[in-house]
Amino acid sequence: MENRKRVLITGAAGFLGSHLCDRFIKEGFHVIGMDNLITGRLKNIEHLFPLEQFEFYNNDVSKFIHVPGQLDYILHFASPASPIDYLKIPIQTLKVGSLGIHNCLGLAKAKNARVLIASTSEVYGDPTVHPQTEEYWGNVNPVGPRGVYDEAKRFQEAMTMAYHTYHGLETRIVRIFNTYGPRMRLNDGRVLPAFIGQALRGEDLTIFGDGSQTRSFCYVDDLVEGIYRLLLSDYAMPVNIGNPDEISIGDFAEEIIKLTGTDQKVVYHDLPVNDPKQRQPDITKAIELLDWQPTIDRAEGLKRTYAYFKSLTTEELNQKEHKDFDHYIVK
Ligand code: UDP
Repeated sequence: MENRKRVLITGAAGFLGSHLCDRFIKEGFHVIGMDNLITGRLKNIEHLFPLEQFEFYNNDVSKFIHVPGQLDYILHFASPASPIDYLKIPIQTLKVGSLGIHNCLGLAKAKNARVLIASTSEVYGDPTVHPQTEEYWGNVNPVGPRGVYDEAKRFQEAMTMAYHTYHGLETRIVRIFNTYGPRMRLNDGRVLPAFIGQALRGEDLTIFGDGSQTRSFCYVDDLVEGIYRLLLSDYAMPVNIGNPDEISIGDFAEEIIKLTGTDQKVVYHDLPVNDPKQRQPDITKAIELLDWQPTIDRAEGLKRTYAYFKSLTTEELNQKEHKDFDHYIVK
């Protein structure tokens, strides 16, 4: 019998989930991946299937989950995570954040496992505090288009804290800011794959609003390192993990045009409802508690990400997942 530590990762076939699977395999864990493949793709983890220390359950975590054997850690990363995704599948988004985390916490209690949940900077909504510290409670519209994601994640944090305080379960909460890297879906509507995809297809880059809204982009390897350290720490309150290097979306479009060496123009569309005007993580806690900060700057991270997108087939490049979602852009 192998005596590796065993970790369950929900959302294993997604962008972040698949990178986490890789990391835990590398660290010598037995990894049990779970995904219902609504937004995840087997392609992201197919290289792990030959490994004895990897198994995969095609399962919806919002329904009862059964995992035989011991579990040391559970990482709940299943969720649609782009604004268009959660407009398209709002009920599943709410369910995976609420019923899904309840199942994970129940399983963790039964197995005496430690749980880490993927929360998000979206809990801060359209923030009135800048940069965002963990103490800020946020400015979220529960009935706006982002409400299904934001409120599910807020509920998820509340539920996790309740299991921690009431049942004494070991829990960790990471608030993830915008993250990018290989394996993002080219057409999930997120700004980085949207811009790169447009540049590669020779289309104009679509800036929503006037491009003055800001984001702070973290390369996926840095994020995974922060999550790994948080999991192994003894800190149960939420911790921001992200790269504080803030940029406006207008300037970001220019960077992508330079990166891709294309000659594309930018075109302006209406800003989606409740689109946050600014976002930048305060990472003081991560620095102090986890001795973590990002090490990969945007120039390097974008180079690696672009290499991935360039390797996609023409068919993948031209696949439009969200052509019916024009109403995403509403005044
Ligand atoms: N955005 C844009 N053009 C696009 C896609 C997104 O200007 O083709 C903007 C979007 O309105 C937001 C920012 O880029 O202000 C980041 O959007 P994304 O969906 O990546 O993530 P968010 O941080 O809003 O969840």
